[in-house]
Amino acid sequence: MPKSPDDVIRDEIRALSPYRVHDASGLIKLDAMENPFDLPLALRKEIGDLVRDAAINRYPDSGAAQLKARLRETMNIAADSEILLGNGSDELIQILALAVAKPGAVLLGVEPSFAMFGLIAVYAGLQYRPVELNRDFSLDVEQTLAAIDEVQPALVIIAYPNNPTGNLFDADALAQIIRAAPGLVVIDEAYYAFADSSFLPRLNEFPNLSLMRTLSKLGLAGLRLGFLVGRPGLVAQLEKLRLPYNVNVLTQIVAERVLRETVLLAAQAGAIKRERRRLFGALQSFPGVKAFPSSGNFILFCVSHADAVFEGLKQRGVLIKNLNGVHRLLPGCLRVTVGTPQHNRAFMRALSESLEAA
Ligand SMILES: *Cc1c(COP(=O)(O)O)cnc(C)c1O
Repeated sequence: MPKSPDDVIRDEIRALSPYRVHDASGLIKLDAMENPFDLPLALRKEIGDLVRDAAINRYPDSGAAQLKARLRETMNIAADSEILLGNGSDELIQILALAVAKPGAVLLGVEPSFAMFGLIAVYAGLQYRPVELNRDFSLDVEQTLAAIDEVQPALVIIAYPNNPTGNLFDADALAQIIRAAPGLVVIDEAYYAFADSSFLPRLNEFPNLSLMRTLSKLGLAGLRLGFLVGRPGLVAQLEKLRLPYNVNVLTQIVAERVLRETVLLAAQAGAIKRERRRLFGALQSFPGVKAFPSSGNFILFCVSHADAVFEGLKQRGVLIKNLNGVHRLLPGCLRVTVGTPQHNRAFMRALSESLEAA
């Protein structure tokens, strides 16, 4: 008699709920921090040509030399740092977690933050230790240092800017935490393009620090490309855990081409930052809405009757993210991605109606 899956699958995996993605068909999609702008037609045609001629019968270049050289140039990555590529930065978190997963090893994160940190800890068999942020979403340095002292985490991951709260943590507070951590520290800069601060120029100050970025929020979410920048000694170990062909042929070719468009990418990020300012102003002007300033391409805001407002928006054709009930510090909170000016106007109209109806 063969065993049932439930007999062989780990208890902590069976206890997980599936990662739920809302069906967005027919809706204005402002739930997942995607870049709303199309690439210019001429560039899309060029990409079409590149894809047509790509050697998809061959395995990809495992080292992805050209793409890494392009990343190094566009992101100003220092020659003494190495780059590790992932199928999205989610995969890089998984590689890091697997690498440190000795029995009893701990991944420490702050909360509320990106849910994948805690989930991937479970996948890899790590203990997950969340430390709550202050009520204003700043780092609780005292509690974080105490937790570091207590659990001696093998890995600390902190998003900068943070998702879903949108804020940049105080750089000195973060530096204090990096210095106190006995193991690896990774700063996840998924939203670097919309923020005015980065730890990339400071990597060499901290021997245990690595940095992660992704192209997902920049307009290439469908390609799945993330990268980690770190010390050669660490990256060499992590490379052993990377599946040999994790970044496919088409992603390598298209990402390399689009990354050359530095002016275009900066202009799109600039437009999103301008729209963010307008959207924030509009949200703040609503009675009963508390909006939080953001350094990402999204805004967290809180209302009473959040579930009804979320459903009302959906009925009016706009999908955002409902965070009501996911964390003690996020009661009544919703998160909207900054869209095109038209998207944002449609969202504000739908929000106004939904607030009235709720
Ligand atoms: C969106 C997001 C990611 C995931 O990026 P992918 O490269 O698409 O896997 C990682 N970290 C944070 C904080 C995010 O918000």
